[in-house]
Amino acid sequence: MRDQNQDSGLSAPHPFAGVDPPPAGCAHDIAPGVLWLRMPMPLALDHINLWLLADGEGWTAIDCGLTTDATRAAWEAVFAGPMGGRPLTRVLCTHMHPDHVGLADWLCARWSAPLWMTQGEYLSARVLSAGLVPTDTASMLAHFRCHGAPEDARSQLRERGNFYARMVPSVPACYRRISHGERLRIGDDIWEVIEGGGHSPEHASLWCAARGLLIAGDLLLPRITTNVSVFPIEPDADALGRYLASLARFDALPADTRVLPSHGLPFSGVHARLRYLRDHHAERLAAVSAACASAPRTAAELVPVLFKRMLDAHQLGFALGEAIAHANHLWALGKLRRSIDDDGIVRFAAL
Ligand SMILES: [Zn+2]
Repeated sequence: MRDQNQDSGLSAPHPFAGVDPPPAGCAHDIAPGVLWLRMPMPLALDHINLWLLADGEGWTAIDCGLTTDATRAAWEAVFAGPMGGRPLTRVLCTHMHPDHVGLADWLCARWSAPLWMTQGEYLSARVLSAGLVPTDTASMLAHFRCHGAPEDARSQLRERGNFYARMVPSVPACYRRISHGERLRIGDDIWEVIEGGGHSPEHASLWCAARGLLIAGDLLLPRITTNVSVFPIEPDADALGRYLASLARFDALPADTRVLPSHGLPFSGVHARLRYLRDHHAERLAAVSAACASAPRTAAELVPVLFKRMLDAHQLGFALGEAIAHANHLWALGKLRRSIDDDGIVRFAAL
């Protein structure tokens, strides 16, 4: 999950693997034994990139795609074609968002393959897939109400229902935990886990120093910015602080690192992208501070400060989460104060 905030093309890093992504069911070679797949999504963001890594007699899949007939059909074509008759021997999910973990249960069952994830991501996927309070629709609507979302916006979100549970109807009953700094042998390569927060609890990116490749997941994207949201399960979270701290873990990567992102095109120019992202959030934090200087604001009142375009119901949820994340970050830094009135409405104001 992420916002659809299309950045200026001028800020887009340089694609290194061509500008034509593979059609669904096909694969492009990124490097020997590293395949790029792309799965469709019925959203404004219409695709996710997945990766297949040659792993001995089989393949390790990085991420899975949404639970839709179109994604299953694309996978069937991948099994019959690009995988060359070799099995899937491991499924590794960067994080628990539905486009990444959606079909994990189907893939793991189909190939008797284990699921590898960080603990925070795996347990979160179990909670959200089950729709446990407060990840259910009623709790999300109450969260949006407290942050000032008007009734028409809430009715759009109500109609959308529990998108997560629909797109991740089940999760494997057990998993193999991966952790920050762990070095995973996949085929002949070592991939180091780089954990990051803010976008999701314990997102795993994978760094292969010998190949100069970073499988970035959603933490580093070439054209859109990573969604950073606050949810009712952790209402006081400083998600943006966690995200910005996570970016620092990529500073040490070599300048010629080739980044494999979950959305958009594989790119080089990691340090320019990190600079852009930091500037982007600094500007947005300044805009939120300025808006709160004149009067106390709800997060819903901050959405048009951050997003100038029309948002559909799916994007509205991300946008409100992002507005809370920016306000909560300033609150955590002691630069705004937060109040909650008798109706439970949360407002942010200058000190
Ligand atoms: Zn995500």
